[in-house]
Amino acid sequence: MHSLIHALFYLCTDFNLISMSQSKVRVRFAPSPTGPLHMGGVRTALFNYLFAKKHGGDFLLRIEDTDQNRFVPGAEEYIIESLKWCGLHFDEGPGVGGNYGPYRQSERKSLYKQYADQLLESGWAYYAFDTPEELEKLRMDAEQKGEVFSYGIQTRGTLCNSLTLSKEEVEAKLNAGEHFVVRFKMPENTDVTENDIIRGEVTFNTLVLDDKVIYKWDGMPTYHLANVVDDHLMEITHVIRGEEWLSSMPLHVLLYRALGWEETRPQFAHLPLILKPVGKGKLSKRDGDKMGFPVFPLLWNDPASGEVFHGYREDGYFPEAFINLLALLGWNPGTEQEIFSIEELARIFSLERVVKSGSRFDPEKAKWFNRHYFQQKSVEELAGLFKPVLEQKGVKASNEKIEKVVAEIKERCGFVAELWEQSYYFFVVPESYDAKTIEKRWLPETAGQLKEIGNVFNMVENWEQANIKEAFSEFMNSKGWNFGAIMNPLRLCLVGGNVGPDLFKICEILGKEETVSRIKIAIEKIGK
Ligand code: GLU
Repeated sequence: MHSLIHALFYLCTDFNLISMSQSKVRVRFAPSPTGPLHMGGVRTALFNYLFAKKHGGDFLLRIEDTDQNRFVPGAEEYIIESLKWCGLHFDEGPGVGGNYGPYRQSERKSLYKQYADQLLESGWAYYAFDTPEELEKLRMDAEQKGEVFSYGIQTRGTLCNSLTLSKEEVEAKLNAGEHFVVRFKMPENTDVTENDIIRGEVTFNTLVLDDKVIYKWDGMPTYHLANVVDDHLMEITHVIRGEEWLSSMPLHVLLYRALGWEETRPQFAHLPLILKPVGKGKLSKRDGDKMGFPVFPLLWNDPASGEVFHGYREDGYFPEAFINLLALLGWNPGTEQEIFSIEELARIFSLERVVKSGSRFDPEKAKWFNRHYFQQKSVEELAGLFKPVLEQKGVKASNEKIEKVVAEIKERCGFVAELWEQSYYFFVVPESYDAKTIEKRWLPETAGQLKEIGNVFNMVENWEQANIKEAFSEFMNSKGWNFGAIMNPLRLCLVGGNVGPDLFKICEILGKEETVSRIKIAIEKIGK
């Protein structure tokens, strides 16, 4: 029996990540509102969301805004709108509520002091009074010697802090209202080993870690303390975040230990980086500009620089495509399947299938995904999306015509914007005519022939592709004219160049009057 339970335990993917005694899975996405959400951030949110859904758990949004200096107006709204657009609904968070709020750290300010005090009392933290100028000087001095200054095990014994000052001196400074920070006291030469769900066992020796500031005189905690306290108070079971936070893991592990929360602390999973399409390194916002693809989910107007960054939404990507492509950046299903709906992902996602190494972003593949979802959409839906584009261009057309056009050219497109590129001629009379075609195909007799064809078209009763073609062919045969010689100029009259689907289909969609009128206009403009 025992071994059966054991076997079952390991058979279930991810099951071993969730201890039996633990209650509901609770994960959080904890961005800092310091700018727009990078697509890597959305991927972090997505993996958290999928993990929560897979295990019937809760997905929280927590805004980590303790660093007021880096606060960017509009960033929080941007984050929330991005999640909404992606369909990543959060169960708790700003604007949604929940039993563990508030979900904005700036609104939780009063909560953190007691934990800083607890760490100070238990000797896991100390007051430091060094001024920014003093620390800057130490940094510069070290730099001149080719070294890096670090406030920590090696240096703290020589600096201005409660480890070197007497109790009375510390009291006096605090009473005098001197600025201070509270630093975490890294234990000396200790290996901190943690089993990261994605990376396996990771060990850091405290010798390479500094004494991070965890709390400041103004009553604000720093990221580290606030993050750990909130994860504890919000009963987070799994911390799923980007690789850039891996180096903070030992400090966080030690903070849980120091606060006496080791028993209930979350497990960690650090997601791999998203890499540039070419070359080395992490995908940056500048790569998007350089190579012409968005790095952000939504368009972002940078309030400081006035720069505008592209967004997937505004560039015409469907959220389904964006989610699908993000899911495969770092996670693999273990099969060849590439197309996944978010519902399917939520059923099969597992952190065990997240890879350790970075994933290269491929902008062409992103388009491919969009094309797939574009093709999946019904003509009616695409026509509905196309209508506002047409209106913007000043085009008025019936739904029936738009749908006919979309049905005809859908297959050539992967984005709504491409519908216009592929179909503008259905809605606007050609302004000019391709010079090369004129030179090659517009013979002295062409205008006269086309005039006669215009008359034939006028006689067609049931204006449909097949009937138009039949009338045309009959007439051509009766005249003994060469089909090839007339088709090109006729197309030129209707669309201005050598583009578009079947000519008689174009005639049908344009309607009889418009077709005949375009022939007339072209003859007038091109002449004999
Ligand atoms: N506030 C951190 C960020 O901006 C959160 C890191 C974490 O998830 O612990 O990414």
